[in-house]
Amino acid sequence: MLSRRTFLSASAMALAATAVTNPVKLFAQTRRATGGAKKMELTFQPYDAQMRHVFTIANSSRRTTQLVLTKITYDGITGYGEAAMPPYLGENQASVIEFLKRVNLEQFSSPFQIEDILTYVESITLNNTAAKAAVDIALHDLVGKLMGQPWWKIWGFNATTTPDTSFTIGLDSEEVVREKTKEAAPFKVIKVKLGMDEATDKMMINTIRTVTNTPIAVDANQGWRDKHYALDMIHWLKERGVNMIEQPMPKLWLDEAAWVTERSPLPVIADESCQRLTDLPKLKGAFSGINIKLMKCTGMREAREMVSVANSYRMSLMIGCMTETSCAISAAAQLAPKMEWADLDGNLLISNDCFTGMKIIDGKITLDEKPGIGVVSV
Ligand code: MG
Repeated sequence: MLSRRTFLSASAMALAATAVTNPVKLFAQTRRATGGAKKMELTFQPYDAQMRHVFTIANSSRRTTQLVLTKITYDGITGYGEAAMPPYLGENQASVIEFLKRVNLEQFSSPFQIEDILTYVESITLNNTAAKAAVDIALHDLVGKLMGQPWWKIWGFNATTTPDTSFTIGLDSEEVVREKTKEAAPFKVIKVKLGMDEATDKMMINTIRTVTNTPIAVDANQGWRDKHYALDMIHWLKERGVNMIEQPMPKLWLDEAAWVTERSPLPVIADESCQRLTDLPKLKGAFSGINIKLMKCTGMREAREMVSVANSYRMSLMIGCMTETSCAISAAAQLAPKMEWADLDGNLLISNDCFTGMKIIDGKITLDEKPGIGVVSV
């Protein structure tokens, strides 16, 4: 039996061990020791991402993408975040900055109150999903850094199960498509944006097939307006080494999507039809899987929840992105171990990336031990 004295000394040692191994406790003690309440400070700045190529999808064409970069600083540590606003999402730099000015993080005593903080951020407005993601990502980066661990590890994911990521080729002339296909050589999957007329869509696939036999993932971006036509195209595409089809028809056509999915020889993935966690119940049965993007779903917290719900529905998972820097790309990459498909090439499409982060090695998303979302500002 332990004497009282041995017991007390053993308890003191156990407490000391807890303080060293439990970063939350260590953090709380540091805070008491230095006295005074520390505050989280949110700062932000607009940033224009310059596109390497003019980027064309079924309904738009552009050369720059508006971003807003965020930082949350606490106790000398900085977490980085980002909002990316392709024009069709209804946000822009002004609306994001207006939203961020309303965010008051000083009312929270600790960044570890992620649930309370993000529930408050969610309550500020109905929409502004990219602005909310900019806070969510910076907060996750900060907390991961305070804990000294990357988020894939905090979530308990296996870093070796990440998928290959695709390289996107937009609609363009045969000559440009051939050139871009050669650029995509290191990637194991090519993603092609279709959804124009039949001749253009078939030209894209046939042109790529003159250069390479790399598997192709097709994104029709809601472009096909007839379920029979969509199904015929999917059969044609399957014969040419296409392995999945994203958003063949308009986002609200769920009955038609269910009809196509039931008959499709390829998995049919919801992108525009799937914005947030609350969309998932109505997508069950209409699509084989969902494309999660941080800018649509307000960030890493909700994306993680979508993974669990989609798993429970036996729906497959894809992680996607907007045109964004390595900051938001690396945040999304933390979820990659749970994904069957990944389309995290947004940082490669811009010429002025201001972060380094997630690396693609031999076409595969490769996660490392850097804490938080694993980025360095350059
Ligand atoms: Mg898409």
